[in-house]
Amino acid sequence: MKIHEYQGKEIFRRYGIPVPEGKVAQSAKEAHDVADTLSGKMVVKAQIHAGGRGKGTLKDAPTVHGVKLVDSADAAFAHAKALLGHALCTHQTGPEGQVVRRVLVEAATEIAKEYYVGMTLDREHSRVAFIASTEGGMEIEKVAAETPDKILRLGVDPAGGFTAFHGRKLAYGLGLAGDTAKQAAKIMASLYQVFVETDASLVEINPLVVTKKGDVIALDAKVNFDDNALFRHPELAALRDVDEEDPRERAAKDAELSYVALDGNIGCLVNGAGLAMSTMDIIKYVGGEPANFLDVGGGATADQVTTAFTIILKDPKVRAILVNIFGGIAKCDVVATGVVQAAKNVGLKVPLVVRLEGTNVELGKKILAESKLAITPASDMLDAANKAVAAAGGAK
Ligand code: GDP
Ligand code: MN
Repeated sequence: MKIHEYQGKEIFRRYGIPVPEGKVAQSAKEAHDVADTLSGKMVVKAQIHAGGRGKGTLKDAPTVHGVKLVDSADAAFAHAKALLGHALCTHQTGPEGQVVRRVLVEAATEIAKEYYVGMTLDREHSRVAFIASTEGGMEIEKVAAETPDKILRLGVDPAGGFTAFHGRKLAYGLGLAGDTAKQAAKIMASLYQVFVETDASLVEINPLVVTKKGDVIALDAKVNFDDNALFRHPELAALRDVDEEDPRERAAKDAELSYVALDGNIGCLVNGAGLAMSTMDIIKYVGGEPANFLDVGGGATADQVTTAFTIILKDPKVRAILVNIFGGIAKCDVVATGVVQAAKNVGLKVPLVVRLEGTNVELGKKILAESKLAITPASDMLDAANKAVAAAGGAK
C-alpha cells in the first residue's frame, strides 16, 4: 500500500528523522493558513501517489508544476488554488494524470546538495538493503542505468540488525564528513527502524539534502507498506487513500479478489494464482493479449464471481472473456452459478468462453447450458485460449 508524502513525513517525524516544518491542506484557504504559521520562503507540493511531481505539470495548464517555491502566504494560496482539483501529469501517472486533492505547504530548505537514499527488501540475500547515491533528485533507475558506479548498496543482516558500522559506511560512502556525516548516519539508523517496525516494502528519500548550514533533512518521503502485514498495523492501514487507487483494483480488493489491470483485450477470470498465470501465458502463446490478471481465490463464492465479472466488464478494452476454473475447494457449480448470475445482472455483451474442470463439473456445465446464455464451452485450456482469441478478433 502506498501513502502520501505528508503521511510519510509524519512517520519520519515520529522516528526523529528531520523533515521541513509544514502541514497538509485540502483547500487554498487552508494552504494560506498553514503558510501564515511559517516564515521565509515556502514550498507548495501536490500530494498524489506518484513521483516526478517537481517536473510534472497540470494536464490543462502545462506551465503549472506540482512542486513550487513561493515567498508569501498569498502565493501559497494561489499555487494551491491552481493545483487543487486539477490532474497532475508526471512520468509515473500516465497521460490522464492524477487529480490533486491535497497539497503540502512547508518551509523551504536552502539546499547545498541533494542525495538519494532508499530501502527495499533484497530477496536474493534475504535482508533489508540500503541503496544510496550522491545523485539525488534524479530518478534512481536512470542513475542505475547510466552511472551504476554512483550507487552504493548495503544489506543489513537481520540477526545483527543495524549497527553504527552501517551508518558510517553509508554516510562516508556518500562523501559526507564531520557532523553532517553523524546526522546522516543517525537518519539511516532511524530509517532502518521505520522500515522494520512498519513492515514497509519500500522507504525512499529523494532527495535527502544537506543544507547550506550542513544539516541533513528529508525533503521527500515515499513509504510503501507490505499489504500482507497491514493487519498488524491498523493505524497504518487507516492511511489508505482510496481516491488514489485504480477503481477496478479497489473494487477487487474490497471483494478480496486479486486483480491487476493489463493492456490486452481478453478478460480472464480464473481460480488460483498459478492457474491465472498459466492462463495468461497460454493466451499469449496462441497470439492473444490478456486484459487482466484475476484470481477469484480457492474458495470463491457466487457473489465474488459476480463482482469479478463486473470488474472485468468495466474495462472498455475487453472483447472476450475467458473463464478458466479448476474446481477444487471452489466447486464448478458454484462458479457456474456466479457466472450466470453475473452475466444476467451486468448484461453480457462480449463473447464468453468457459473451461470448467474438477469438482461438480457436470453440474456446473448443466447450469451453464440451462442458462441459455451464449457461452462457448471449451474442452481444455488450449482450446479455451484459441476460442477466446478468435472471439476477440483473432491473433495479432
Ligand atoms: P518529486 O518530484 O515528486 O520527487 O518531488 P520532490 O519532493 O522530490 O521535489 C522535487 C524537487 O523540488 C526536489 O528534488 C528539489 O530539487 C525541489 N525542492 C523540493 N523542496 C524544496 C525546498 O524546500 N527548497 C528547494 N530549493 N527546492 C526544493
Ligand atoms: Mn522526490
